[in-house]
Amino acid sequence: MKHLTLTAALLMGTTLTVPAFAEGHLPIAEETLELTVHMHHKRYTSYDESWPVEQAARKMTNIHLKDVTVGSNTDNSEEAMNLLLATGKMPDIVGTSRIKDVVFQYGPEGAFLPLNDLIDEHAPNIKAFFDERPEVKAALQASDGNLYYIPYLPDGKYGRAYFIRYDWLETLGLELPETVEEVKAVLEAFRDNDPNGNGKKDEIPYFARQWEELIRLVTLWDGRSSGSDTYHDFFVDDGQIKHPYAQEGYREGMKNLAQWYAEGLVDAEVFTRGSSAREYLLSEDLGGMTHDWFASTAGYNTALADKVEGFSFKAFAPPASISGKRIAEHRRIPIKPDGWAIGYSNDHPVETIKYFDFWFTEEGRNLVNFGVEGEQWTMVDGKPTFTEEFLTNGRPVNSQLYEIGAQLHARGYYQDYAYEEQWSNAFALEGIALYDEGDYLIDQFLGVAMNADEQKIYDKYWSSILTYMKERQQAWILGTGDIETDWDDYVATLDKMGYSQVIKAMQSAYARQYGN
Ligand code: CA
Repeated sequence: MKHLTLTAALLMGTTLTVPAFAEGHLPIAEETLELTVHMHHKRYTSYDESWPVEQAARKMTNIHLKDVTVGSNTDNSEEAMNLLLATGKMPDIVGTSRIKDVVFQYGPEGAFLPLNDLIDEHAPNIKAFFDERPEVKAALQASDGNLYYIPYLPDGKYGRAYFIRYDWLETLGLELPETVEEVKAVLEAFRDNDPNGNGKKDEIPYFARQWEELIRLVTLWDGRSSGSDTYHDFFVDDGQIKHPYAQEGYREGMKNLAQWYAEGLVDAEVFTRGSSAREYLLSEDLGGMTHDWFASTAGYNTALADKVEGFSFKAFAPPASISGKRIAEHRRIPIKPDGWAIGYSNDHPVETIKYFDFWFTEEGRNLVNFGVEGEQWTMVDGKPTFTEEFLTNGRPVNSQLYEIGAQLHARGYYQDYAYEEQWSNAFALEGIALYDEGDYLIDQFLGVAMNADEQKIYDKYWSSILTYMKERQQAWILGTGDIETDWDDYVATLDKMGYSQVIKAMQSAYARQYGN
């Protein structure tokens, strides 16, 4: 299928020449070509030329990346970027976490090369990706309409799921909850009927590592908590930018969640327990239900098998909301703000874009996703497959890959979910299959590139508006305010604080970018 797409893209392109993707598209350069690179991410604060992935890429492409990273002594990529910008010199390639912010600001000012024509003429694999995913290309455009970076593109659809103690349900003779009313009834039973069997009323029916996962439950009343994989983000409703915390469904959801909290259906310490909540409440046989990542949460079934008798904490389908909608609001975002760009003074833009394109070819994609063939993986039935030794040596797979220069998020590449599937827990895969049966995922807000005027409005108002929203949110849950009584004042205050101006600025950026 991939090849068909590529062929179609080639035939349609008018500027593409056959040699761009003929046999022997490698090496990219006849003679060794060195390109300088600044690469910074909290996991790796410089580009390591001895990474096996770099060494293999050199052999295939004849392009050698030479590390000139500035600010390697800090693990703060933004700080390193400021240091780099202060030097006034731009390397051939700049790769960093949050490069989106950098290129959106400095690309239109001339610090980076626009990639649009280079991609059309010399990067058939990247072009084929964009042809298939026009929304991704639109999201990458800066306010001047140009594209300045190739991002890290995560693969795999699912992020978080609802998890519940199946063994507790069985102990209490309950069915899996299918609706918001049934969820409430189950949580009440967890609270009252001693499913852990210790004779104490110590169960915590709903808990979360991130308190935002309590707010997430407003979706059960047709509210929204975020439009992307970032908490508190805007969302798009029928072409209109909105913020979740100013909508009616949110009001209804919050009213009910405050009630749940008051009735002890939610962890009393949900705002303060923090990241250890899941580990603690599951291993102590206290927690009943949460909303958390598939793989790591499913992993407790194995980890606690010997510690908690009968332990079975598995995913269940999103319960139906009051209007009967089942949605998985959280999903993996298709584009990360990380990746790489070409510095304005690069003397080899064509070779560089071909090099970027290499990571989207089959060879390059296998290399960046799985590591070096014959070392970390071998081809089995036409599929890159990690070796037994690599998967069972007891070390986390991701750490091993980062160490050899694979799966580097400051490199622009398209992840292959197969890399993760090969070491995902069976319980996680079972849950994902369950979510695949329903059409629960919803579209994500992919962000907007604001021009200077829009950005000025956003910067002036947004941070204090969001602080106020979160302050009220917490008060309503904790019962120090009543959302029904407060709502009109709340909406009026948001407006006084500049809410509608922010929405207007974002809407104009959105219309420009996505051609609404
Ligand atoms: Ca108990």
